Amino acid sequence: MSLAIEEFRRLLADRGYRVTAQRLAIYELLQENARRSHHPSAEELYQQARERFPMISPATVYNTLELLVELGLASQLGFPGDVQRYDGNPHAHANVQCVSCKEIFDVEADALDGIGERVARESDFIILGQRFEFYGICPRCQQARQQQEEPAEGAVACPEREEEAAPAGEVTAAGRVDR
Ligand SMILES: [Zn+2]
Repeated sequence: MSLAIEEFRRLLADRGYRVTAQRLAIYELLQENARRSHHPSAEELYQQARERFPMISPATVYNTLELLVELGLASQLGFPGDVQRYDGNPHAHANVQCVSCKEIFDVEADALDGIGERVARESDFIILGQRFEFYGICPRCQQARQQQEEPAEGAVACPEREEEAAPAGEVTAAGRVDR
């Protein structure tokens, strides 16, 4: 569920929350971040919000984020060893974080369609939010690792090939001390 700013304004009013320019702006900022698949921390959002509201307090940003999570319009992503991040895309999708560069990616998964309704039905819960978190190593960091591990061409002989080249039962000239 992604609400246009007008609907968000109405939702706040309907639930008895004050509609403030700051709240609307934070919601809008989070949506902007979500559109480019960015998952900001509260601190990052605070810095973004300050560009429009130089006097805004960190508490306003934190409280509004909490409210958005409570209303089911945003989710908190809590990966181990990283600060809490926020996702303004409340549509059921998976998040996968790289343990190396900490980048978080969105992954659309058909299998998650309607899963909230199914969980609500099975558990009799009122579901307020969901998290589908995975972690691993992103393609860019995989490549960086590979380049680090791969020795320069011709620098080290492949031990397997050396073994193949030697006649069966014969010890290679260098001798093998590792047996
Ligand atoms: Zn990475």
